[in-house]
Amino acid sequence: MYDVHETDVLIVGGGLVGLSAALFLEWHGVPAVLVERRDTTSPQPKARRINLRTMELFRQIGAEPDVMAAAAALADFEGMAAGRTLVEAERLSWGHGEDDGSPALSPSDSCLCAQDTLEPVLRALASERGADLRFGHRVLEVVDDGSSVTATVRTPGGRVAAIRARYLVAADGPHSPVRERLGIARSGRGTLGRSTNVYFEADLSAQVRGREFNLCQIEHPEVPSMLLTVDGAWRWLLMADPVPGRDHAGWARAVRTATGVPDLDVRIRSALDWEPGMFVADRFSVGRVFLAGDAAHVMPPYLAAGANTGIQDAHNLAWKLAHVLAGAAPESLLDSYQDERHWLGWLTADQASAQTANLRQLGAESGDGTPLHDPVALLLGYQYPSGAFVPDGSRAPLDRVELTGQPGTRLPHHRLGPDRSTLDLVGRGLTLLAARGTWERAASATPGVEHRAVDDPAWAASVGITGTGALLVRPDHVVAWRCPAAPGNAASALSEAVAVVMSGHG
Ligand SMILES: Cc1cc2nc3c(=O)[nH]c(=O)nc-3n(C[C@H](O)[C@H](O)[C@H](O)COP(=O)(O)OP(=O)(O)OC[C@H]3O[C@@H](n4cnc5c(N)ncnc54)[C@H](O)[C@@H]3O)c2cc1C
Repeated sequence: MYDVHETDVLIVGGGLVGLSAALFLEWHGVPAVLVERRDTTSPQPKARRINLRTMELFRQIGAEPDVMAAAAALADFEGMAAGRTLVEAERLSWGHGEDDGSPALSPSDSCLCAQDTLEPVLRALASERGADLRFGHRVLEVVDDGSSVTATVRTPGGRVAAIRARYLVAADGPHSPVRERLGIARSGRGTLGRSTNVYFEADLSAQVRGREFNLCQIEHPEVPSMLLTVDGAWRWLLMADPVPGRDHAGWARAVRTATGVPDLDVRIRSALDWEPGMFVADRFSVGRVFLAGDAAHVMPPYLAAGANTGIQDAHNLAWKLAHVLAGAAPESLLDSYQDERHWLGWLTADQASAQTANLRQLGAESGDGTPLHDPVALLLGYQYPSGAFVPDGSRAPLDRVELTGQPGTRLPHHRLGPDRSTLDLVGRGLTLLAARGTWERAASATPGVEHRAVDDPAWAASVGITGTGALLVRPDHVVAWRCPAAPGNAASALSEAVAVVMSGHG
């Protein structure tokens, strides 16, 4: 027999997605335990672009200042460059590319913050807020008995213990042992290439000054590659074609060629082979287990969307788990996780796969005829086809951002004052945005709904309602119901809409 620890949610995996899940669940007051098999956070920088939407989620839980502080070193590194070597590279004319939302679209800004810098920030924040994070703990087995899910876990001392939870979030990465155990198949375009990530240290400050870059395309025929900044000064990543048998000394020579600095003092930290590809789990949930992040969808890094989409999965799931665990919604609300996130995970992975890896051709048509959507629409302007909202027949396009309060889209950002947005009005439950009076009374008669006054005809018109209408918004900023004008019995209309939203099947 071994110890059994009971909790509401067990998170497997302490990468960016698992740590974010711990923070989102903590914000909703859900008891959770996170187990991570490594003793530390990831030593690899990998993801660096933290997009606008993810920053909005961090803003909601009060983590935005910490993330921005960690990203400060790369604030001037938004640009792109290309050339035969680093010293010959010229800046390309455009900036963010994958994430160029204007301040009119969001109260937040995207940033560059390497994964090995960001994970410790999220870990520290989650610990400070009282999250139960157990590094050095490996999940060995997972059993879902229909009323709970039990994981056997090997602890750092080699003991085996059990954690029993009402639900399990598998954020255990691309090879997800939990997904494998559940036998969930994956579909998609499969492997799309091979690459070696050479993570190295070198003082390139003199060569970089004046041409600060996020990505620098190296066009040297001996080392066609991409140079990525990690901290803007000392740590760098070279993504190059694999060369069988090449050792660290060989990669150090390749770095000197790519940078154009023959006597550069280089220390190779690691040279890891990996295969970009598209693999999307056919189901994002089975029973009490939910897949998030790379466990659910692996995609090439060309849209910088892998970790971001995963963090957004966790945010979508956290409020649903919180409501079901609190008895405020039936379990069927959780079905909407599959409907909403599988659709978006597939779409994003497919778009990332269709992108060119050539910086000089970014934004050009895909090689295989896949229509490329507007990257900002893919990030902020999409509309779930079905899920936990009341559809009204409206559609949001993907060739431009057109957010007008359509149910299933993200609430449009409307500035309410200096650094204050309509997104900031959204709370932990359902939020009803409307003028005072009728809707205020209707909300106070409806459990789980809070009224927030927005008395602005321009705002009302921008979201497709009249001065007497209302917009019901979910805790993840998604519009749940749009009522163009107050009906005779507002309280009854509101409670009917809430029932549809919480059923998960609008
Ligand atoms: C070169 C490169 C550049 C990229 N750039 C970007 C970018 O700019 N933006 C972006 O959004 N994404 C980017 N990505 C993708 C991003 O790195 C991944 O999508 C992201 O790391 C996935 O996070 P995750 O938490 O889902 O999985 P992981 O980071 O893989 O974490 C999973 C965790 O689960 C743990 N685990 C596994 N099994 C067990 C077990 N049995 N018990 C306990 N713990 C377990 C693992 O140890 C690991 O820590 C990039 C990827 C690459 C390779």
